[in-house]
Amino acid sequence: MSLKSIEEIVGLQGYSVTEMSITPQEVSLQLTKTTASYCCPTCRQTTFAGYDSTVRTIEDLPLGDKRLFLTLPIVRLSCPTCHTVQTEALPFLAPYQRHTKRFLQYIHRLCTIHGDGERRGGVDGLTLDHGAAD
Ligand SMILES: [Zn+2]
Repeated sequence: MSLKSIEEIVGLQGYSVTEMSITPQEVSLQLTKTTASYCCPTCRQTTFAGYDSTVRTIEDLPLGDKRLFLTLPIVRLSCPTCHTVQTEALPFLAPYQRHTKRFLQYIHRLCTIHGDGERRGGVDGLTLDHGAAD
């Protein structure tokens, strides 16, 4: 399967897959940004003023029976409107999270189905409330 096919399956706009590794338990994808514009989390203004970046590994919905991990750059921007340096807002990732929003929504649905699920799976209710609500 080509990286382009994986990119279409994962479907994160603004990112391309540059590398993929597969083990019996997991799939790991290296992503790079395809655009040089960033969204301020406070005023939602788009800016091209990147400040610096870090690399973060986050978990997404599983591919088949394998856990899926995405390693991608997270950019801090210098917002010309707010005059502050902040971490960019990403449509698929809530601030400070290590799981995509759709992964948290999936876990939240499972917890709702099973009732007492907030105590299951090592994901606490606070994380679910913040990640799945956006
Ligand atoms: Zn701003």
